[in-house]
Amino acid sequence: MARDTPAGDLRLAHLTKTFGAFTAVDDLSLTIAQGSFFALLGASGCGKTTTLRMIAGLEQPTSGQVLLGDRDIARLRPYKRPVNTVFQSYALFPHLDIFENVAFGLRRRGIRKVDEEVRRMLSLVQLDGYERRRPAQLSGGQQQRVALARALINHPQLLLLDEPLGALDLKLRRQMQIELKRIQSEVGITFLHVTHDQEEAMWMADTVAVMNAGRIEQLGAPTDIYEYPATPFVANFLGQSNLIEAEVTGQDGDDLLLTGHGSRFATPRDRARAHAGGVWLGVRPEKLHLVTEVGAVPAGRNAVSGVLTDICYAGVSTEFLLRTSWGQELSVFTANSDPDAGLVPGTQVTAHWHPRHSFVLPRGGENE
Ligand code: ATP
Repeated sequence: MARDTPAGDLRLAHLTKTFGAFTAVDDLSLTIAQGSFFALLGASGCGKTTTLRMIAGLEQPTSGQVLLGDRDIARLRPYKRPVNTVFQSYALFPHLDIFENVAFGLRRRGIRKVDEEVRRMLSLVQLDGYERRRPAQLSGGQQQRVALARALINHPQLLLLDEPLGALDLKLRRQMQIELKRIQSEVGITFLHVTHDQEEAMWMADTVAVMNAGRIEQLGAPTDIYEYPATPFVANFLGQSNLIEAEVTGQDGDDLLLTGHGSRFATPRDRARAHAGGVWLGVRPEKLHLVTEVGAVPAGRNAVSGVLTDICYAGVSTEFLLRTSWGQELSVFTANSDPDAGLVPGTQVTAHWHPRHSFVLPRGGENE
């Protein structure tokens, strides 16, 4: 019999959770492909953990389904689900050594010969030789690896990771991101990773879902979401965007023509999510180039002039703030900028960009 959903895909269908009059997760539907690394990204309080808890069985949905393949698991007890969770707090047993912490899931299922499997898991997370230590004798990153080994030893179909790197400092966090990616591709289990860190989500996941107020704002590959944000919220939650108020005035071949604050702009039609009326013309700060002479703007570019108000030098890049004649502050990132280039606050500059680096969003949405 043909199936619509492969055996291991996770499908949330109209999943909703209310707490009294408050809706924490609002009619959420999405599919996570078996074997993929999926990130649920959103600000604190947007409903990420509640979603994860419903998948794990720690929270009952108010309505909707949690389907693994064709099977609705929403009403199964947590331990009956082929799902394991790794929390930010690690939740290791302090009185057990590392070996017994990792062996726990197997022993609970009555398996007695655990040696080989525990060692295999410890080797996977690169903790060979740590078997007899207690959790308190490990660093935060090492404890997180133990938590991972303990979750993976049960061979779940799905591993839920709730801000697993939240307690680590930046360098260790980076290392563990690399580790997690490696481990995921080695074991091939579906990873659902919850984070509020947009770089982490983009960097690690095959697919990112941006969540806001209990709903998915946009879902896609990191490059698609970054290059083609669907809403002003996504344009500013994932990186930064300059959004200029504009009106669509016509078309020229494959280009959409716009005016905004007295200037004319063009954008390829396929970069526009609105083709008429009031829109936001968006451009990422790193796509802008600065010149001090208007005449130096290459032909066919979009351009905005203004005065530099601030320059933030960060070594690898510099952020310039440019105040336009209508009082909007635009952000310009320049990699490898020369600190001696003579650009100081008060300098009159023009920022220009290639039309294909713009995006156009409808104006007047509910979250603006
Ligand atoms: P964080 O990143 O801070 O953990 P989150 O995106 O994971 O945030 P949730 O923990 O899912 O957010 O919470 C979503 C909303 O639901 C929040 O406004 C929270 O206060 C509310 N909420 C969560 N659990 C309960 C509960 N048991 N009773 C009432 N409200 C709750």
